[in-house]
Amino acid sequence: MTGTHDVINPATEGVVTTIEQVGVEETDAAIAKAVAVGPAWRDVTPADRGRLLRRFADVVDAHLEELAQLEVRNAGHTVGNARWEAGNVRDVLAYYSAAPERLFGRQIPVAGGLDVTFKEPLGVVAVIVPWNFPMPIAGWGFGPALAAGNTVVLKPAELTPLTAIRLGELALEAGIPDGVFTVLAGKGSVVGERFVTHPDVRKVCFTGSTVVGQGIMRTAADSLKRVTLELGGKSANIVFADADLDKAAASAPMSFLDNAGQDCCARSRILVERRVFDAFMGRFEAAVAAVSVGDPADEATAMGPLISAGHRDAVRSFVEDGVDVDVAFRGSCPDGLGWWYPPTAVLPRSVDDRVWREEVFGPVVAVMPFDDEADAIAKANDTAYGLSGSIWTRDVGRAIRVARAVEAGNLSVNSHSSVRYSTPFGGYKRSGIGRELGPDALDAFTETKNVYVDTTD
Ligand code: NAD
Repeated sequence: MTGTHDVINPATEGVVTTIEQVGVEETDAAIAKAVAVGPAWRDVTPADRGRLLRRFADVVDAHLEELAQLEVRNAGHTVGNARWEAGNVRDVLAYYSAAPERLFGRQIPVAGGLDVTFKEPLGVVAVIVPWNFPMPIAGWGFGPALAAGNTVVLKPAELTPLTAIRLGELALEAGIPDGVFTVLAGKGSVVGERFVTHPDVRKVCFTGSTVVGQGIMRTAADSLKRVTLELGGKSANIVFADADLDKAAASAPMSFLDNAGQDCCARSRILVERRVFDAFMGRFEAAVAAVSVGDPADEATAMGPLISAGHRDAVRSFVEDGVDVDVAFRGSCPDGLGWWYPPTAVLPRSVDDRVWREEVFGPVVAVMPFDDEADAIAKANDTAYGLSGSIWTRDVGRAIRVARAVEAGNLSVNSHSSVRYSTPFGGYKRSGIGRELGPDALDAFTETKNVYVDTTD
């Protein structure tokens, strides 16, 4: 153990609980156990492995409200969001419970024999989770990894360990054998780094900041570990003049305020065709004013607090403390205890402004006009990131053209959806490497083995 850590409720600043943080020794022991139980887990018949994952999904479902309430207290997520997040873990497990029996290889025509491929587990997979969506992001890693026959060690973020710890307990309750899925709460610089340097870890599935992801990829190169990296974003919401402006403006607030903007897919840049700019802004301001910010446990709340005091300072640094930026308007938020920050819309003076270029990860959106389709695409792509984006237009041809032209992994037309467990998710450019979820996620957790059988007499 490396000491204790107080888990703080970001809406009240009160201590929720104090947990022990594990060190390198416990991490090594958990990895050794994951190696030891690997062969038995891999040999569980496909039908039985599927059954165990379905049972795990059922146990999560039976504890959905408990998990949701835990997330409200630990991460300040609104209770509605937290219920969706726990339900997402259940759904990901249920979706991938069908995978063990469908982990198909191929039969490839060759001369003189039979050629078949097998999808085999990698071994020990390490999952490293950020604080912004502790439950879903954990599930996107451990669900398909376990389905493919791997054993898993998982590290939640220091600030938000509680739901992951509980999910580890629920796995045991569901009958997942001890050591197959182990949650290790600890520091990134201790447990996380050990995952990446440990010779027996075959893959690191990391979600977090681009800078930490880059370091993980560098270190992983030493042992040629496989990596999946889900990193930052600076996604654009592009509103064309022919769009349903009422709908575009009404939906824009939650596209950057959901989870208080602490969302890698946040549409933190809005591009509006110049001739409808003012018309959009008027409607948008009214929609933001209607967003209720406050106690996340209240069913009517749409946005809660930021995760920590330090993070609120980081968000503030984009718009306050002598920063030369035009604030278009701000919403309201509670005073007093809790790390609150009001919804804020700014008008950058140039595409070089920090608030236009860097990920804020808070309830701050930058809005800019564009002249035509080409200008919209150029501005949307003028970023190091490429995770998500939205396109609002009634012109089907334009919707498809722009969706194909924007360099990002997850685009939505006339909506802001990014994540479905049944469709692939991941980023272009500095938003990451690899895809999670959807029908192909198993490829990222398996090796392909080719076997040739000579059939000549
Ligand atoms: P972070 O990079 O600071 O931490 C993420 C995780 O990595 C934590 O568990 C942390 O303890 C661990 N870690 C830190 N240093 C490490 C190291 N040297 N070795 C191994 N592990 C280490 O990120 P964060 O602040 O927790 O999360 C916010 C970031 O995550 C944002 O940039 C956001 O865009 C990104 N994010 C991306 C996605 C996506 O799917 N693309 C989803 C959610 C969040």
